[in-house]
Amino acid sequence: MDLKKLRCLVLDMDGTVYLGNRLIGEMDKTLAALRRHGIRLCYFTNNSSKNAKDYEEKLTRLGLYDSRDTVYTSAMATVSYLNAHHRGKSVYLLATPTVREAFLEGGIPLTEEGADIVVLAYDTTLTFERLRVANEHLCRGALYIATHPDMVCPTEGIPMPDVGSFIKLLEGSSGRVPDVVIGKPNALAGEAIMAAVGCAQEEIAMVGDRLYTDIRFGINAGFGSILVLSGETTREMLDASDVTPSLVLDSLNDLPALLGITP
Ligand SMILES: [Mg+2]
Repeated sequence: MDLKKLRCLVLDMDGTVYLGNRLIGEMDKTLAALRRHGIRLCYFTNNSSKNAKDYEEKLTRLGLYDSRDTVYTSAMATVSYLNAHHRGKSVYLLATPTVREAFLEGGIPLTEEGADIVVLAYDTTLTFERLRVANEHLCRGALYIATHPDMVCPTEGIPMPDVGSFIKLLEGSSGRVPDVVIGKPNALAGEAIMAAVGCAQEEIAMVGDRLYTDIRFGINAGFGSILVLSGETTREMLDASDVTPSLVLDSLNDLPALLGITP
């Protein structure tokens, strides 16, 4: 990765720019300095329980959002994937009401019966009844798509079960594993992000705190990759891993100095 070519940062959120509802250091000032330096910011989260507008509101509240920034979620990537590869196919969707709305706005035909495809998003409103029906569609051979692979979702306390945990549950009941997992580390979203920000691969770096999603995504998409040690990954985990980021920082707050940006 050549830092002199850097024009866009794809940013993970939790563990990278904030922890829960707390900024990591003076992240608002860091991001403002990067924008002044002409660097575009694209937030990209695997969390498919909220839509882009929900994230814009949270980032705005924390002083981390600017109208030039882009927000992209694994749910948005899934809508694009369905429209590109399975247009018109009926979908049984496990998702929250706001994300269901985004699928309908994206033109995805949602159904309860006879689904061609089951999509497992991060449904924090999930009921046993919806799990039961999803399992029936899977046992009958529906295509199976999950929005992302994360096992747990960080909180200020004990992490919550995330889509990866529900994948295990449905594997137990149906014997099925997803045919496609859309979010990080799958490179599928890379093209959409390049189109959204108008930058080439070598001008983009993915910044995140997880090796197996964020950093792998950066590598798979052909972007640079910057691991920050402000979230999940420790030095010990990095040393034990076969995933090699282009750059390792204690936090993203250390980047401006490396780019020669004075605060
Ligand atoms: Mg993270």
